[in-house]
Amino acid sequence: MHKYFYKFLIITLIILGCDENDDNLGMIGKGITSPPSVTLSVMNPAIKEASGKTSIVATLEFSTKTDVSVSLNFSGTSSSSDYTISSRSIIVTSGSATGEITITAKQDSDEEGDETIVVDIEDVTGFGYESGTQQVTITIKDDDEKDNWGAIVPDETEWYAASDVTQDHIDLTKKWWKVAADEWGIYGPQEWWIVGKSESAAQELDKKHCDVRAEKDNTYNKTWCYNNSTTMSRYVAEGGAGLSTYRDENTTWYGYVVTMASKYPGPDETDYKVVTIHEYFHIYQHAHIYSKIQSERDAMLQKNPWWAEGGAEYMASLLYSKQDGVDDLYLKNRMERKMESNSKLNPGESIADIPYGDRGDIAYDLGSWLVAYLINKTDEETFVKKFWDDLNTEGFEGSFKKHFGKSSADVLDEFHNTFLKLPLADQLKIIP
Ligand SMILES: [Zn+2]
Repeated sequence: MHKYFYKFLIITLIILGCDENDDNLGMIGKGITSPPSVTLSVMNPAIKEASGKTSIVATLEFSTKTDVSVSLNFSGTSSSSDYTISSRSIIVTSGSATGEITITAKQDSDEEGDETIVVDIEDVTGFGYESGTQQVTITIKDDDEKDNWGAIVPDETEWYAASDVTQDHIDLTKKWWKVAADEWGIYGPQEWWIVGKSESAAQELDKKHCDVRAEKDNTYNKTWCYNNSTTMSRYVAEGGAGLSTYRDENTTWYGYVVTMASKYPGPDETDYKVVTIHEYFHIYQHAHIYSKIQSERDAMLQKNPWWAEGGAEYMASLLYSKQDGVDDLYLKNRMERKMESNSKLNPGESIADIPYGDRGDIAYDLGSWLVAYLINKTDEETFVKKFWDDLNTEGFEGSFKKHFGKSSADVLDEFHNTFLKLPLADQLKIIP
């Protein structure tokens, strides 16, 4: 007993007696000159693809008086585009026994299954050595299991209307919804919300909308929604129509939420029917973009309105013009009015450069002319089917070039410099 006590005491004294200015490299006690071993560990061995993070920690057997650098090698089934690392080597600073780097997974939309990152020690620089063979493995959990996005589905469309919206108004919307759905297929889930003219009825509808959102996505903040949401009620003042696409990395529910108002256009105007089809074509467009990453979705649909709105405008007008009882000159007359925006284009300005906002209608109008121009050069099938079917795999520019034979920049050049300079009578020749 005494013998052990003294041994322990001596070691303690040696530790306490360590001179701060000692030149020895690896030091907690005088006379210890063999370097500390280095081991590697991982904080979270499985991380989520959506920005999951973990630390790789290098631990020294004991701290040293100079920095130890542990350089790492990365392998495994993942590629370098699947994650980012804060550094390729871990620095264990003097006096400390651990150091770490961070690995952050990067979201992609590839359905690739789980992937691994295998981390090995390549080299230890400074006073230390790798303890045997150190290796850790991190699994990146794939969250891109295919869902039903973009698939044709049975009609389970949900309809909601403010209490002051008449049954006729609801039936009219459903009728023109069906014209579009029969033409382009049903994608889902879809919700259609119809706002009337009463502000208090619209506020009730807003609450209902909060309830529906919270019911479908348990991460949704219903209290915030109750206190702040004017998703529906702003349509009483502003009128119009709009599609909200729920498709991103953060929400668990995906789908299309369309809102129709009672003015600009109202249900008694022809435009109401066309706008219903217009919103439906937006659903069709979004259904053909699988990604949950906003920047990728924007790139495929183009951030400025010329492409998405031009397409929705022209396809809605064209489909409407083909319906029974519609005036034969409907489409030509509508497109003639849209050509008036040509005079509002600044010299040398491209419709592709006009953002949503004050001058957005120029891009809507001339964008629909551009779509008419492309359909005239190819056919409706190429614009409506082939381009959109290849969009996910080829990207916007890839699918554009593949189906329209030229880059979008070249087509836009040709459209501005040749077609828009033609006399109106010649321009109208491409409209069926
Ligand atoms: Zn639109």
